Amino acid sequence: NHQLARTQKRFLHHLQSSHQRRQALKLDSRQLVMALHHRELTNFYQPKVSLRTGLWLGVECLVRWQHPELGMISPKQFVPLAEESNLITDITRQVIKQSIEDFHDWDPEQMPKISINLSMQDLTDVNFSDFLIQTTQMQHFSPRQITFEITESRLAKDLAPVLDILARLRLHRFKLSIDDFGTGHSSLLQLRDLPFDELKIDQGFVHDAHNEHRMNAIVKASIALAKHLEMESVAEGVETIEDWRNMQTLGADIAQGYFIAKPMPFAELENWHQQWRQRIQQENLLTPLI
Ligand code: C2E
Ligand code: MG
Ligand code: MG
Ligand code: MG
Repeated sequence: NHQLARTQKRFLHHLQSSHQRRQALKLDSRQLVMALHHRELTNFYQPKVSLRTGLWLGVECLVRWQHPELGMISPKQFVPLAEESNLITDITRQVIKQSIEDFHDWDPEQMPKISINLSMQDLTDVNFSDFLIQTTQMQHFSPRQITFEITESRLAKDLAPVLDILARLRLHRFKLSIDDFGTGHSSLLQLRDLPFDELKIDQGFVHDAHNEHRMNAIVKASIALAKHLEMESVAEGVETIEDWRNMQTLGADIAQGYFIAKPMPFAELENWHQQWRQRIQQENLLTPLI
């Protein structure tokens, strides 16, 4: 019964494609152009923490559209539209600029690493690496502080043009992460051909894995794969204490998810960090399992 409900939930989620949701909201690319102009797009940040030490290691930048009438719109609704209408490269640049501005006066020693999501178009934009080098240098920002997340299902089958720009980014010491691992059609080929530093196991495998033997096996194997390829493993979608403990047991390096924090405005990060440090003690988050 539980299994059936789960399958139904997945199926419904699949049906609610971004296209249908967009139609319901009546979003089009003209509105998105205006939104960029009026600076209605804003960065939210979701913390990533070490499963061993509890330390705050990074943040993922997740773009939001603060629409004057419709309220906050999720990237699931407008990123596909931005990709179709070639606006995504402008959005990416704005997301990067904002994150660098937000963190620019933080002590580099204590600053979390910043993760930026990229789309396929960013990786075929010939000026992208120049833009990055300029922007980071201008703000005295080390490329090592920045990780680019690439969703494997978004990568085209032909990796050749993308390999070039990814190699260039790595040469400049930016970090690369493979996002939503397990959801694409050629995961292993991409790991063979691309030099990633981090592997993010898709939340669909992580949350509740301890209740489903097959999912737990997949997570376990993904963590082992990351270790063998000298990549850091990130468990996405850690929503409960059970998820947290399970990922510790399986030996994942880093956790991200609602259990730790939901994505939030920049101004709330320091407050979250204080509370998180207390929670580690109060909820015994670092105690090994009995
Ligand atoms: P993603 O990169 O895989 O980001 C993780 C998504 O999972 C985020 O959704 C986050 O809010 C959500 N999430 C985090 N923890 C949990 C959890 O414990 N449970 C559940 N159910 N969800 C969790 P969000 O912010 O709606 O972003 C959706 C996707 O939109 C992202 O998936 C990413 O692919 C894309 N996206 C977001 N910002 C950008 C951007 O600036 N540029 C590009 N190209 N894509 C972006
Ligand atoms: Mg991501
Ligand atoms: Mg992801
Ligand atoms: Mg995702």
